[in-house]
This record gives sequence, C-alpha cells and structure tokens, in this order.
Amino acid sequence: MSNEFQAHQIRDIIKINYKYTMGSQSKFFLELMNNKKILGTKCSKCGKIWMPPRTNCSDCYVSAEWIEVKQTGIIEVSTIVWFTTSAFIKNIPYATGYIKLDGADTALLQGIFSENLVPSKIKKGKRVRAVFQKERVGKMTDFFFVPEDEYENWINKPDYEGGD
Ligand SMILES: [Zn+2]
Repeated sequence: MSNEFQAHQIRDIIKINYKYTMGSQSKFFLELMNNKKILGTKCSKCGKIWMPPRTNCSDCYVSAEWIEVKQTGIIEVSTIVWFTTSAFIKNIPYATGYIKLDGADTALLQGIFSENLVPSKIKKGKRVRAVFQKERVGKMTDFFFVPEDEYENWINKPDYEGGD
C-alpha cells in the first residue's frame, strides 16, 4: 500500500443569503433606484466632478459633495462582450465601455446595449443616453446606456423607461 497522500474530495453546493452595504456610496444607489437620478460628486476644493462618485476627492483628499449629473455622454472606450456570467448570458452580445457623462471629469464603466450592435455604433466619441429598468433594485444593472438615436425605441420597450 502506498503512503502517498490522497485527498478525499466531495462536490457540494453552498447557498448563502447575505446582505452587503454600499457604505458611503449608498446615496448613489438609492437615488438611482427611487428617482432614476445619476449622482456624481464634486470636490469642494478643486471642483472636479467624479463619476462614478467618490465621497472624497482622490486628488485633494478633501470631501466631495453629491450632485446630479447628466444622463447623456460620450463613449471613451468600448468592447463587445461575448463571454460572461450567468447573470448576463441572455444579453450577449452586448457592449461595455467607459462613458464620460456630460459635465463629468471621469468616466463610468457600464453596459451599452444596441438594437444593431456593430463596432461603428460604439466607437469612441459616440453619444449615448441612460435607459432605466422599470423594476429597479438599487444595483448598477438598474440602468445601461444606448446610442442616443436608439433612445426612444428603448424607452418604449415594456421593461425599460427613460430618465430625465
Ligand atoms: Zn479635488
């Protein structure tokens, strides 16, 4: 008999119900869920507008104040997604990209959906606008971006609605 160690493995599933907090970012998710507002923050010293919001300016190390930002912006960089997790598998192919909202100084990584997803639709500099889920739960998936010229079509679909 060999003395070589052999680990005995059992495959199983762990199901855990848990809660987590968004901490100082909670206001962003509450305003998104309840009022379809997209909030950034503005540094109280240098005036930089952070989107996604930071409660303290990473340049000045002072507090930043909550402000509502525009729901339109431009694509800074993007890619088409073909491989994803089970949560998004029904949506492929879709795009994801960094969106710089009008007036903001930093860009937000978010999903970009299109009825005719081709690379030219999601090029750098293309204008996009936020579309909201009708059933919002206070997560980043409560909204996504679409090419500005598809906005009216998207907000007339049964599951979605427009913001401001
Ligand atoms: Zn600052």
